[in-house]
Amino acid sequence: MSYKQTKMWIVDKVDHNLQKSAEIKEAALWISEGEVVAFPTETVYGLGGNALEDDAIAKIFEAKGRPSDNPLIVHIATKQQVEELAADIPEMASKLMDAFWPGPLTLILRKQAAIAEKVTAGLDTVALRMPDHPVALALLEVAGVPVAAPSANLSGKPSPTTARHVDRDLHGKIAGIVDGGATGIGVESTVVDCTGDVAMVLRPGGITAEQIAEVVGEVSVDPALGESDLAPKSPGVKYTHYAPKGALYLVEGSREYVQTLVNEQKQEGTKVGVLTTVEGEHAYDADVVLACGSREQLASVASKLYETLRSFDDGGVDVIYSEVFPNEGVGVAIMNRLEKAAGGRMVSEK
Ligand code: AMP
Ligand code: MG
Repeated sequence: MSYKQTKMWIVDKVDHNLQKSAEIKEAALWISEGEVVAFPTETVYGLGGNALEDDAIAKIFEAKGRPSDNPLIVHIATKQQVEELAADIPEMASKLMDAFWPGPLTLILRKQAAIAEKVTAGLDTVALRMPDHPVALALLEVAGVPVAAPSANLSGKPSPTTARHVDRDLHGKIAGIVDGGATGIGVESTVVDCTGDVAMVLRPGGITAEQIAEVVGEVSVDPALGESDLAPKSPGVKYTHYAPKGALYLVEGSREYVQTLVNEQKQEGTKVGVLTTVEGEHAYDADVVLACGSREQLASVASKLYETLRSFDDGGVDVIYSEVFPNEGVGVAIMNRLEKAAGGRMVSEK
């Protein structure tokens, strides 16, 4: 499917009457009638389609070039919708919804038949989430249907955190984009499987395993996340993601070591970038040096991560060296995304 134009609706996320705005009404109508429309959430921009209609879901996969075995997250505006979409609601799921919804937490539950086949890629479970963003919630309420929405980028590219990123990737491939400004958290939701005895993190994200354990007592993490030869329980996790055009390397070591690597590349005539934070911005001599938030606040690194990866594309670098971040709190999600973007390329000083 191609569109001569992709319609852009500009909305103000602090408007108290979003549900009544002509822009939200039109975008919601288009979704309920089977079109695909991108919209902001608190994590990244999503590409939404009616989760009850297989044809709408097919348009999402086509626009993104997403492999058909990678299921989508269904977005909802009320807890009541869970009862219509999930076959049962285990106690741990209820507790997690009460604690974190609306918010960056996706729950895997056993599904009901109403959900379009393509949404769940043949699985007997469904991923559900209530986003914490006024524009997303208004759109979902007015559309009146559950909305399946993966990140609104071309498959394999960094996820979009602004409407401009979406437009760059998907102009002419989708019906419209609701522009509600830049998203906040910047990395995708945490995916938690609630179908077993113990809650299991399948993909790290905005909510940490520690936060989940505080609510449900015990939590496990899919062992496949640490070992590349195990099959992950979340199909999407196995694909390369978030990758900029230049070859990204994660570097464990001092700034001096990173600079040595940069110098070696420069001698070969390669255009080199460095991904650092405001703390290291002036420490490097490379073609493009980008500060991604501050180490003092890992949330600021998460929020800027995809935008920074995309900016290296604009700078036309061939190779990017990235500093690494502590594997704790939201740092787990940051390192998970960086490792994916690097496709396993890692260099260590020792
Ligand atoms: P995205 O929307 O691009 O952030 O990707 C959605 C993520 O949720 C992917 O990693 C999917 O594999 C995962 N996911 C969606 N539905 C399920 C499900 N039923 N079981 C396990 N993982 C799922
Ligand atoms: Mg994605």
